Amino acid sequence: MKKINLLGAGGSIGTQTVEVCRLHGIGIHSAAVKSSYKKLADIAREFCTPRVCIYDEKYYKPLKEELADTDTEILVGMEGLCELASDNDADITVNSVVGMVGLMPTISALENGMNVALANKETLVAGGEIVMKLAGERGLDILPIDSEHSAVFQCLMGVKGDVRRQLKGIILTASGGPFYGKKFEELENVTIDQALCHPNWSMGRKITIDSATLMNKGLELMEACHLFNVSADEVEIVVHRQSVLHSAVVLSDNAVIGQMGVPDMKIPIQLALTYPERVKSLSAPLSLTDYGCLTFEKPDYEAFPCLGAAVRAAKAGMTAGSIVNGANERAVELFLDGRIGFNDIGRGVSGALESIALKPVTDIETVLEADRAAREYIDDLFLS
Ligand code: MG
Repeated sequence: MKKINLLGAGGSIGTQTVEVCRLHGIGIHSAAVKSSYKKLADIAREFCTPRVCIYDEKYYKPLKEELADTDTEILVGMEGLCELASDNDADITVNSVVGMVGLMPTISALENGMNVALANKETLVAGGEIVMKLAGERGLDILPIDSEHSAVFQCLMGVKGDVRRQLKGIILTASGGPFYGKKFEELENVTIDQALCHPNWSMGRKITIDSATLMNKGLELMEACHLFNVSADEVEIVVHRQSVLHSAVVLSDNAVIGQMGVPDMKIPIQLALTYPERVKSLSAPLSLTDYGCLTFEKPDYEAFPCLGAAVRAAKAGMTAGSIVNGANERAVELFLDGRIGFNDIGRGVSGALESIALKPVTDIETVLEADRAAREYIDDLFLS
């Protein structure tokens, strides 16, 4: 039986990963959450999980009480996350942690020879150079769980020979989010609830806001550049309202291969866990005639300045990814706390990218320093 380490078990991807494991008899060797200790205890009981980690130490005690009658070992904090990520009694580490917190566990996993199924965007946005180099040197797989990157990955599964030489470009699809068609001025006063209402995908709060600002697509662009070794100019972002074409590749002869399906994250999640084989799934089959027509448009960079900032960051390289990501993560936190407006997220992200000097990514400390500087920039801009 295949076994996984599951980081971020309490979130949206984590919960769906647990469902996939249940359906296919995949074991959960270890699991980690930020704070939802009850959920973690339930997983540990159901899957007889030997090791768990609670990131936020204040939930250690209640978790210990929940699991008092079991042999489950309980770890805490970043150290615990990295320990579980690198536990090679499992076959693969699934990293679905939200935010920069996910970077170090990915590195730990790779350093210890673990293949990684990756749903944590920050791993590649901020640490792409380091992470891809490490995976390459060790001959390890990074299997994308994000629907777009999984789509590209699936398209490339069908390309024989030198894949990179035949890959001319990527078409990265975007739903357009809840504010599709709106102008920048119209977005000034949108509420948290309006921003949290996504038309096609059910996801966690942070990524749903990122989808509303289109920052999510910008982060995905940077991820795609690292994962598939392409430049930002080789990726076209296309707004596709129906989220049926999950992304496509353009090959050297201009043939375009796309991957389609109903919007359901369980398809990419289970492929990452059963790769290279495909197995049956509970996801609904796609009926193209039910949709009738699929639409494709250019994104509106004026209404969604986060996307423009992310494209500039992708082109700039160096620590630009860490800067826009850190600034965005902090700004989204402030927005969700009701302390800044929706458009302030874009102002903050663009401002951080313009103001903070870029440095080459030589080591992890450079990445973390750029992240800190970006968060400080946001706090100085909005809170002082
Ligand atoms: Mg996505």
